[in-house]
Amino acid sequence: MNTVHFVGAGPGAADLLTLRGKSLLENADLVIYAGSLVNPELLTYTREGCALHNSATMTLDEVIHCIEAAVGMGKSVVRLHTGDPSLYGAIREQMDKLTALGIDYEICPGVSSFSAAAASLKAEYTLPGVSQTVILTRAAGKTPVPESETIRALAAHQATMVLFLSAALLESVANDLVSGGYAPETPAAIVYKASWKDEKIVRCTVGSLAESAGGVAKTALICVGDFLGSDYALSRLYAPDFSTGYREATE
Ligand code: SAH
Repeated sequence: MNTVHFVGAGPGAADLLTLRGKSLLENADLVIYAGSLVNPELLTYTREGCALHNSATMTLDEVIHCIEAAVGMGKSVVRLHTGDPSLYGAIREQMDKLTALGIDYEICPGVSSFSAAAASLKAEYTLPGVSQTVILTRAAGKTPVPESETIRALAAHQATMVLFLSAALLESVANDLVSGGYAPETPAAIVYKASWKDEKIVRCTVGSLAESAGGVAKTALICVGDFLGSDYALSRLYAPDFSTGYREATE
């Protein structure tokens, strides 16, 4: 029986798909893709005759039935998820259903949009002396977030924070960030469609997030923290007076 492949499509740009993901797409007989976010250009890597299904209009059971039927006919199936499937990909429920059906699967990672956003911002999330932690989270919206993980609670750390799925909730996000501990003048950025041709970046502060969005409410990440500022310490790794397993201190 063929193994089903969950593939991370990357953040958008068609050449930010991994080589492995590309070859899986080239060999697929069926691709079920997350149509709301996956760049349709990626589907041109499939061969003629490959069946393409957009999961945006399907339920979990419909997706699973579709995979099960194709696997039963000996076909190669790719389930294409945006970014990296481990983040807000809803893949766990699919994997558990496939396991119950005795269908093998593997996961091919992808470039997450939070990595693409850092690249677009020309930023480093983990600056020495600023923050060594990145919190990837989302605001509670139509779907809830555990009580212990409210933006307010997480803001207490003043770590680097990247918010997915939250661009439509900027006003409450900004309020929660400030009441949780970030100063209103903490730098922030809204990165819309990182790596796409129509990518847009808005640099602002936590306090001015809501008025800076300019109508952007979808496919955007909110990046928050002093990593977007200009102060930081130099890394020890490359300091001349610091020895590592590869290099003796020279000062
Ligand atoms: N698994 C994906 C995230 C899926 S959740 C990943 O690793 O990136 C969908 C959310 O991801 C969107 O609401 C948006 O917040 C974010 N997102 C996905 N692609 C994006 C992109 N190219 N630029 C900015 N944000 C993006």
